[in-house]
Amino acid sequence: ATKTTLLEVKNLKVAYGGIQAVKGVSFEVREGELVSLIGANGAGKTTTLKAVTGIQPVADGDILYLGQSIKGRGAWDLVKQGLVMVPEGRGTFTRMTITENLQMGAYIRNDKEVDSDIERIFGIFPRLKERRNQLAGTMSGGEQQMLAMGRALMTRPKVLLLDEPSMGLSPIMVDKIFEVVNDIHGQGVTVLLVEQNASRALQLANRGYVMESGEVTMTGDGQALLNDPKVRAAYLGE
Ligand code: ATP
Repeated sequence: ATKTTLLEVKNLKVAYGGIQAVKGVSFEVREGELVSLIGANGAGKTTTLKAVTGIQPVADGDILYLGQSIKGRGAWDLVKQGLVMVPEGRGTFTRMTITENLQMGAYIRNDKEVDSDIERIFGIFPRLKERRNQLAGTMSGGEQQMLAMGRALMTRPKVLLLDEPSMGLSPIMVDKIFEVVNDIHGQGVTVLLVEQNASRALQLANRGYVMESGEVTMTGDGQALLNDPKVRAAYLGE
């Protein structure tokens, strides 16, 4: 049986003033998949995610989530429906502690399992547990990335959108972050991963899309893209 399509982006166009940043992009993410969106700096990956999550207005095209158009819906509304983004630059609450940041992630929920979910997040990221009372703003880039991912997981997402989670991190931290992304996917969360680190992103992906200058230029299985000579030449330094 074919899997349900959770997110479908159809002919999406986004402009900043007169500049077309996204020029008719289409892709889909099916239930249980990890889909990677790769491409160089300025290809339009972040803009695409911002349009999906209602942060950037859509000029044309449509975005369907669970079969319904979500065009023009706000980020908050989408979080309540399980579509959650971890932004580039992380966006943690810098003047709150780690534990408080995680509690904020559960703000939309009214169940009683918040504490046990925090323990689960601490299990994924022991570093956050060690630093639970530290202010988020004083943590390293990698720690803030962990916190942003932990806070997103506190919402119990159906689909997690990750914008360049490895950006600016040390090699060890990059390893850790990709390991966690893989684990989160393994636990049943559907993931759309935007990355400049094409090699790592495609290794984890069921499927991938390559973006260039605001358009999708290639798509296929993660492994097939990883082995594609054009992808290797353009994105894997060969
Ligand atoms: P990166 O990996 O560097 O984040 P990206 O693929 O995510 O790249 P975008 O950030 O989506 O690319 O940028 C796409 C294009 O839109 C770029 O040419 C960028 O300069 C432009 N752009 C992005 N944000 C704005 C903005 N707020 N105002 C004007 N132009 C913008």
